[in-house]
Amino acid sequence: MSELPILDPVTAAISKVASLLATVPPQQLTIAQAAGYVLAGDIRLDRDSPPLDVSAMDGFAIRLDDWQFKPLPIAGVAAPGNPPLTLPERSAIRIFTGAAVPLGADTILVRECSSESNNEVQFHVDLQSVRRGQHVRKRGENAPVQHLVLASGSLLSATAMAALATFGPSHVSVYRKLNVSIINTGDELVPMGHAADPWQIRDSNGPYLEQYLKQQPWVGSIHRQSVGDSKERLSTCIEERLSQSDVLLLTGGVSMGDYDYVPETIRQSGSHVEFHRLPIRPGKPVLGAVGPQGQLICGLPGNPVSVAVTARRIGLPLMRKMAGLPMEDSIQWRLPPPDAPIASVDLIHYRLCKIDALGRCGWTPMMGSGDVVALSQSDGFLELPPNFPANQPTNYPDDLTTEKRYRFYPW
Ligand code: AMP
Ligand code: MG
Repeated sequence: MSELPILDPVTAAISKVASLLATVPPQQLTIAQAAGYVLAGDIRLDRDSPPLDVSAMDGFAIRLDDWQFKPLPIAGVAAPGNPPLTLPERSAIRIFTGAAVPLGADTILVRECSSESNNEVQFHVDLQSVRRGQHVRKRGENAPVQHLVLASGSLLSATAMAALATFGPSHVSVYRKLNVSIINTGDELVPMGHAADPWQIRDSNGPYLEQYLKQQPWVGSIHRQSVGDSKERLSTCIEERLSQSDVLLLTGGVSMGDYDYVPETIRQSGSHVEFHRLPIRPGKPVLGAVGPQGQLICGLPGNPVSVAVTARRIGLPLMRKMAGLPMEDSIQWRLPPPDAPIASVDLIHYRLCKIDALGRCGWTPMMGSGDVVALSQSDGFLELPPNFPANQPTNYPDDLTTEKRYRFYPW
């Protein structure tokens, strides 16, 4: 009997919020407009692929049983874009890649092993080396009509667009894109590009989150603003942004300090806080809530590395769920670096890593959760169980070797 997996507290918190979030409504778009959107229905082949037998090479289409009569007169030209010709008895038809194989022909001989004179073609190959059906792409060999090619929840990426263009209808149902708002709290913040006194900090969380969201094709509008540490102003902003957004991301002010108004203000907005504080480092103060109209609210900590880690580990899968996508699709199972010993903590530990040219994971030296230098030099992070390396991973795919691999989250 298989046991139910025991969820780590982070996965459990994500699952709880996910169960309360609905996917945004679908809309109909032309397939040209739909690029970059998420499919809200399956796409099946509207015809066989290929739709009829076509040549895979430039050469001559023949009936193999006519071999003994060569040289064969050239009875016509089969070019791409034309309906199939009929091959007369004891003849060849010149054919080009992608053209319909003439009716009656069963074999293609490539141009390189042929020579022509007086409108006849001679072949310079042994009959033994010719296979009946060679260089013919058979009707339906890629997939038959009605075959599922893109499942609901697929992002219409470049490769998906190739399939949609080949097989799709004129219009498709896709989920509308998410409207996301970012609120950065803190009296110490100065906008990027501005002079800052030593006791001030340039806001990096706002630009970080804005760019992170812009990189997600399923995000539509992004609204970003900074508020100081004023309870009244924060409350007004939260109310206003909730009325305009599917997702609200806040940074800072979520901890236990005197100016940390975020948890209380979120509660006062009629939202329900589903979790606050998780046993993780960095990012412990993180908060997850659901707004009065089902909005996702993430109260991310203030420190930049904490913001990046919690946005990736917690915010991203929840937003993906709302966008109609699978919650995770880019986790990589990786071996931790063997070399540098790291401090063991009794918390789920996110360690910044860089992947080298050979695909090996190396620790990114980091001074603390405010270390933007380390953040900017990392490719993602490993999720290590509490008390690593003494503890074994709690979760790994069974098809791997006995090597202990951990989840690596690329940015
Ligand atoms: P807080 O959780 O509000 O106490 O913020 C923790 C720390 O994160 C603060 O002391 C700041 O140094 C830093 N911080 C907060 N907000 C930002 C921001 N938007 N950009 C960069 N650093 C920030
Ligand atoms: Mg603050």
